[in-house]
Amino acid sequence: MWFFRSPLIVFGEDALSELEQIQGQKAFLVTDAMLQSLGLVNRVEERLRAAGLECEVFSQVEADPTLETVQRCAVAMSAYAPDWVIALGGGSVMDTAKSAWFLYERPDLPLDSINPVEDFGLRAKARLVLIPTTAGSGSETSFGAVIKDPQTRQKLELGSYEFLPDLAIVDPSLSAGMPPQLTADTGVDALSHALEGLNSTWSNDFSDALAIHAVRLIIEYLPRAVKNGAADLVAREHMANAANMGGLVINNANIALAHAFGHSAGAIFHLPHGRVTALFLPYVIEYLNCGGLGRYQQVAAVLGLPAQDEDQAARNLAQFVRAFLEQLGLPTTLAQAGVSRQQFEQEFSVLCANAQMDTGMVMSRRIPSLEEIERLYECAYHGRQVDF
Ligand SMILES: [Zn+2]
Repeated sequence: MWFFRSPLIVFGEDALSELEQIQGQKAFLVTDAMLQSLGLVNRVEERLRAAGLECEVFSQVEADPTLETVQRCAVAMSAYAPDWVIALGGGSVMDTAKSAWFLYERPDLPLDSINPVEDFGLRAKARLVLIPTTAGSGSETSFGAVIKDPQTRQKLELGSYEFLPDLAIVDPSLSAGMPPQLTADTGVDALSHALEGLNSTWSNDFSDALAIHAVRLIIEYLPRAVKNGAADLVAREHMANAANMGGLVINNANIALAHAFGHSAGAIFHLPHGRVTALFLPYVIEYLNCGGLGRYQQVAAVLGLPAQDEDQAARNLAQFVRAFLEQLGLPTTLAQAGVSRQQFEQEFSVLCANAQMDTGMVMSRRIPSLEEIERLYECAYHGRQVDF
């Protein structure tokens, strides 16, 4: 027996106008300084005011948000006592909003008590709306939130199905102005969610359908979105939807090895989540394939990669993903990502230990030993093919 979990999603042109249907008194808007300066926050505030809500803005979320930011946001939120929490931004903003909202709802509990099995009775004080301005993290439809703990240099992975928003608003006009690098970095995160979901032990017919179509959309539209920017709203819309589907894949199948490797490396070497996670995809595909446990034939067929069997499909797909990342100007090795050999060696044992502890390990169809984790990192550092 299984469940399919999804929030209510409003998508497409002018989806933002749905905010005017909200009923309540006070909205607390979580966002970042850049979005405020671009005028996107104003667009949301106008809609909320049209719905008769007062509004307060917290715009101090940074990329890769820390526990301290979440705490500060929660203090401001609690002081304002809203009945709606609205997040406008990328994964960092949405994850901060989810986490701060948890602390507002449950001040009696620490953040690391969040887990997917317990019922926390959220929504006693406020409901949640998530509005992505990037196309990648899929946080708007997923049960997860990732927050950095600078003290341990680890990513805290928080998951609760109560984190699914009351409403996800996916309006492609909000991501249209993203610069090319951010478009590429975030877009390949959605690719990781889709490919990881296919190879999670929780994958199922529903998540497979979403994952395979998301991959198809990303391969077709991400290069266009990077190249054409705001001029190509068709590409922006398909990417916004693909990212959203990627979030649903996380929800209903979960992420796996590339995220375990990416979370650890991203926290230690300060690399953007999407960029560093996608970097590991080819190595993970090869590793699963060497163990005879990959499920790549269907997706390879959809991408038009000829293959007679699973082994060939996985090899072709790994090469295809490498070329795709290169086409987008993204690194395919840790060295290319800017990690020096000295840094790599210095942090190697922590890097591997943290990856082994990551929840992404648990759901993988093949789980590497510590020795294999070390070898995988070495391969990803130099760009060597995985043959074990
Ligand atoms: Zn991700």
